[in-house]
Amino acid sequence: MPSKRVVALFSGGLDSILSVKWMQKLGFTVIPVFFSAPYFPSAKAALSAQDNDIDLRIIDISKKHLEMLKNPRYGYGKNFNPCIDCHAQMIQFAGDLLAEYDASFIITGEVLGQRPMSQNRKSLQIVSEISSYGDLLVRPLCQQHLPDTLPIREQWVDKNDLLSFSGRSRKPQIQLAKELDITLYPTPGGGCLLTNVNYSLRLADLLQYSEGTNRELELLKYGRHFRLSNQLKLVLGRFDTENEVLYEGFPGSVLIRAKDSLGPWGILEGDITDPDTIQLAANIVLSYTNKASYEEAVCYGKDFEYTINAHKVPRESLRQYIITEDKEL
Ligand code: SF4
Repeated sequence: MPSKRVVALFSGGLDSILSVKWMQKLGFTVIPVFFSAPYFPSAKAALSAQDNDIDLRIIDISKKHLEMLKNPRYGYGKNFNPCIDCHAQMIQFAGDLLAEYDASFIITGEVLGQRPMSQNRKSLQIVSEISSYGDLLVRPLCQQHLPDTLPIREQWVDKNDLLSFSGRSRKPQIQLAKELDITLYPTPGGGCLLTNVNYSLRLADLLQYSEGTNRELELLKYGRHFRLSNQLKLVLGRFDTENEVLYEGFPGSVLIRAKDSLGPWGILEGDITDPDTIQLAANIVLSYTNKASYEEAVCYGKDFEYTINAHKVPRESLRQYIITEDKEL
């Protein structure tokens, strides 16, 4: 008889909490895993796990996930979210951990029909097929609706003990949470930045010019982003705390700000040797510094500092450079 140990894909959301708790109730030892990357950080899942006394493993999959993200076989959702390929890859990674954790199969918190694109019957089937571990996959919250996989055929888990949730309503999950005494769980959505339109636009822009390092992907979360040339981008803090994040969180960056500094701080990403582009960056910085008292900006890095004569330009004229959906300036 295989071990009563399972690896769980854990997002931190209610469905994944329920899936873990339900299998624990059935007597399984559950090893929950969160796969992290800069665009799906682990903090929310870690907090959710802590709140619910779940012992979470966090594993960084940035490199392989980014490779997949550049060319997903099943394409993207509404934004830069390749949900089918992403789910399949995570199941594959979970499957690769089975031997290490002496576990027999994988569970997820998916619910048939909950998300119209990525959790319909066809998508769930494709995910099972392309993950290469489809026959070792059990979806405890909706398995009653799905074809039997090896753990069910072999009676490692009794299908009658599994659930039959389906559809978009979350009432059954909320009811089950009450029954299992689960009171702390995050509101749905918001965990994955690949579903965020502005992050997606910045990411699409980045990947046109760069391989996409973790640092660059992290930087996409903050500030206003301006594409100044193929070689140079400007990221401007929108408020004081964001200035601090840019300054403290990205050490070694080339910074630019108005000389009197009462305004946004910017990071220059890329080649800073072209004077015209640097001039443009300086003008943008000044245009966002409401109370600039000098017509000068300062650009500085680890070993240098120089002043640039700059002037404000109408924000309207910057629309062509800013990377956002609504071009809000
Ligand atoms: S929402 Fe994000 S993390 Fe979830 S499957 Fe889609 S791409 Fe992957």
